[in-house]
Amino acid sequence: MNPHPHPDLHPDRPAVVRLDAAAIADASLGVVAPGALLLRIHPDQVVVLAAGLPHALEAPGLPAPDRVLSLPDRLLMPGLVNAHTHLDLTHIGPMPHQPGDGFVAWVHHIRAARHDTPEGIAEAVRSGIALSIAGGTVAVGDIAGAPHGRLTDTPARVLGGSPLAGVSYLEFFGIGRSAAPAIERLERFVREALPGLSEATGPVRIGLQPHAPNTVDLGVYRWAAALADRCGLPLATHLAETPEEHAFIARGTGPQRAMLEQFGLWDDSVLQPIAKGREPVRHLAGLLGEHRVLCAHVNDASDAAVRLLGETGTPVVYCPRASAYFGAPDHFGPHRYRDMLDAGVPVCLGTDSIVNLDTPDRISVLDEMRLLHRRDGSDARTLLAMATVHGATALGLDPDAVTLGPGPLAGLLAVPTDGGDPWAGAMGGNGPPEVLILKRECF
Ligand SMILES: [Zn+2]
Repeated sequence: MNPHPHPDLHPDRPAVVRLDAAAIADASLGVVAPGALLLRIHPDQVVVLAAGLPHALEAPGLPAPDRVLSLPDRLLMPGLVNAHTHLDLTHIGPMPHQPGDGFVAWVHHIRAARHDTPEGIAEAVRSGIALSIAGGTVAVGDIAGAPHGRLTDTPARVLGGSPLAGVSYLEFFGIGRSAAPAIERLERFVREALPGLSEATGPVRIGLQPHAPNTVDLGVYRWAAALADRCGLPLATHLAETPEEHAFIARGTGPQRAMLEQFGLWDDSVLQPIAKGREPVRHLAGLLGEHRVLCAHVNDASDAAVRLLGETGTPVVYCPRASAYFGAPDHFGPHRYRDMLDAGVPVCLGTDSIVNLDTPDRISVLDEMRLLHRRDGSDARTLLAMATVHGATALGLDPDAVTLGPGPLAGLLAVPTDGGDPWAGAMGGNGPPEVLILKRECF
């Protein structure tokens, strides 16, 4: 599974290497064209010595390169952070979906198709890791699904042995009749399984993921957040994703309620914190004010919700292709990621699972950047921040490792350009990036 770094950048050949490219790009520099990088290759890490226009690398005090690599038709960018994905669904592959079918029908399909043995889950996660690396990913916020309600640390263990960094968020459900058993299972996990786990998962941290407001009671959210604080575990959730969730939280009605009733989980305690006309983000206002929760999607956000997310510094993972796949703009209008950024929300990018992607050969936020470039004309610096430093910070990783500033570098990608404007070429293409360097040790 280890990627093969470029031979001139191989850790077995320590040296100072200069790369001359059509352009270099990161969240601080924006796009510099033509661009050059001066790297020191150590056996255990790669350090950026200088980055910028080619003549900047000849400044006094910088060493002369041992080797020069010429990449005139490539744009170089740091490795990417996919802040929300489900690697354990990778075996399902891309699946056509009509938004008119509704979200609940889709959920039933995924429940039936997901693996429920450790071997099956490990195999799916391993192929998800391979596809993530093929897409230039250095770190993931991966959701470890809970088949039949069982917490599973298999994805964390597999990720721990892989070249990727990040967080494995253990997902759980807990509402109505399932609330008390969920608390019991989590307590047992923290007592019995968690203490030995961090040795097995290396730089991949364990986090908790209460699934979503329509499957986790507000009281269980609060309980899990207190537990996470006590144990130093990062928290994430799905939030404000679908119109079904909106109907459930605002009015206590709709297909999500029908699903709980069908599963025999409904009791009237469910209604107590909901059915007050609030949108999902407002429903979690108290929690977001007191805890850092990485919130995936947030397709459904009023002005008040955007303000609340900004005031609480809540990081949001926007998954553009997933939003489009489920027809979110038809219900909620265009995603408000730019308003969120303006309000101070650190918006990251995520892919969600391979099921909703149009790139069977890779799982990468590079293709989310391309969509936003084409559709919205979002600028390079914004897209790079969302795809690198915002995601790293949200996952508790050093954001400097995903910039080209001086210091250790977690990853380096060469994206094909088309000979014209390098950024437009890199964003206009459909091909995978070439992974030149992948070093999670730098985080
Ligand atoms: Zn998700």
